[in-house]
Amino acid sequence: MTGWKVAFDAGRPQGRNCAHAQDAEPYGPVPESPGCEGCLEEGTAWVHLRACLTCGRVGCCDSSRRKHAAAHARESGHALARSIERGETWAWCYEDELFLTPDGNGPEADS
Ligand SMILES: [Zn+2]
Ligand SMILES: [Zn+2]
Ligand SMILES: [Zn+2]
Repeated sequence: MTGWKVAFDAGRPQGRNCAHAQDAEPYGPVPESPGCEGCLEEGTAWVHLRACLTCGRVGCCDSSRRKHAAAHARESGHALARSIERGETWAWCYEDELFLTPDGNGPEADS
């Protein structure tokens, strides 16, 4: 896998682009936290975990009560976060509101 490309999404207008995807690291820094860093601090529960592709910060998804991943993207300007749920390989651009999928060989193809 070499990077990210905008995923086909039938629910959204076609032809939208994400300038962040071209420069993004495929996996970003290795996330160090075992869970959402904001939730661990606040003692709240998360639903799914996302990792910032710029700095590796772990946050929770928009289905979680505190939506820490979105808050981190807004505060830091780090637009992209990937899912770190097992078996999921996609990323989300919070600025452009687009799904991204791996460009090139996915992790499956490495084995
Ligand atoms: Zn973008
Ligand atoms: Zn959280
Ligand atoms: Zn970040």
